[in-house]
Amino acid sequence: MKITHPASVRYGSLVVPLAAQRQVDAALAYLARDPVERRLIERVERSPVRHRIEIVHHHDDAYRPWSHAIRWDPHSAMRTTGGGRQSPALGLAHELDHAAAHARDLVRLQSRGDPAYDDAEERRVITGTERHAARTLHESERRDHRGACYRVADPTQV
Ligand SMILES: [Zn+2]
Repeated sequence: MKITHPASVRYGSLVVPLAAQRQVDAALAYLARDPVERRLIERVERSPVRHRIEIVHHHDDAYRPWSHAIRWDPHSAMRTTGGGRQSPALGLAHELDHAAAHARDLVRLQSRGDPAYDDAEERRVITGTERHAARTLHESERRDHRGACYRVADPTQV
């Protein structure tokens, strides 16, 4: 079976599906209001590794280190344990941070369990860039690696 990739555009080394460019642009512009996120986006765009954003539809955001795929649902917002809300854009930011990590560090931190955040890599991302962006963008902070997903029309909506 021949596998074809849909038409895409490239932001440096970040490959974005053309069909989702508007949503990715909206999310990145929103996130870039936070200086920490702005630096993170630049790191991914300038990375020696080519990452690809893949659009998913079932609240199944993830980073796949073996294929360098950032899987993102632009309609998936999240209700946090404390009843707060996070936008789909913040979900993209979370996966971008996993993507920006060196593969060696990612594996090492993921293998280290953490009672509140499942593993040390989730703790690093959630208490680091995610929390910083949440404060800047007036979204909710997480104190764990949980959340209940719900649908929104636009990536910057909560
Ligand atoms: Zn994560």
